[in-house]
Amino acid sequence: MRIMILSDVHANLAALEAVLRHANAHGTPDAFWCLGDSVGYGPQPAECVARLKELGALWVAGNHERAATGAIGTEEFNPDAAAAAIWTKGRLSDGARAFLDTLPETTEDGDFTLVHGTLRWPIWEYLYSHEVALDHLTLQRTPFSLVGHTHVPLLVMEDGASPQGCELYRLDDGDEVKLKREGKLVINPGSVGQPRDGDPRAAYAVYDTEGESVVLRRVEYDIEATQQLMAEAQLPRWLIDRLAIGR
Ligand code: ZN
Repeated sequence: MRIMILSDVHANLAALEAVLRHANAHGTPDAFWCLGDSVGYGPQPAECVARLKELGALWVAGNHERAATGAIGTEEFNPDAAAAAIWTKGRLSDGARAFLDTLPETTEDGDFTLVHGTLRWPIWEYLYSHEVALDHLTLQRTPFSLVGHTHVPLLVMEDGASPQGCELYRLDDGDEVKLKREGKLVINPGSVGQPRDGDPRAAYAVYDTEGESVVLRRVEYDIEATQQLMAEAQLPRWLIDRLAIGR
């Protein structure tokens, strides 16, 4: 079975369609996991929610889904994110908002736990340091977990022999993580719709259950088409510009 792992789509339908096409070209995925932030920043929130719903994705909430439904305020957001969140809220139907409100903060499927941020603070905390990774690993009951939120592809390997208790590795296009059970693992598949690791290509991952591996992929998409729609919607300039530089 091949499970496609998507995170931080951020209402970027061109990027979402590009990664779906890319994954399909390598064998149709049997299931889809979504790590939250399907909306916010980008120009097509309703379309992205509908597409992910249609795929039957197993889906956990991010801070941007919570803001889009009004479940949380935008006080914790920076001004550009807050402006986009308010715009997004107005673009979603009552039905879409009600659906997003049903998303859990964490879920488990087999050997994996899915969460947007960390298990300590599911929708808010960024997992990019050894310290945060270790706290997350302590709360992780399954051998493997998947996180998003930072928009940077990452592998965390629990390692009792390491002075920091774990090791962190950046993941590039084509990198394959073997799912060994010697220590717990955390994988961040990067962001479909707003990469922030300096590579503007959309990111996703595929979990091969038989091969017991997760492979990271990067895919080019029509960035200008998304930027055009964002300009038409008068979304903040920096949110438009950052897509081209992957920051
Ligand atoms: Zn995000």
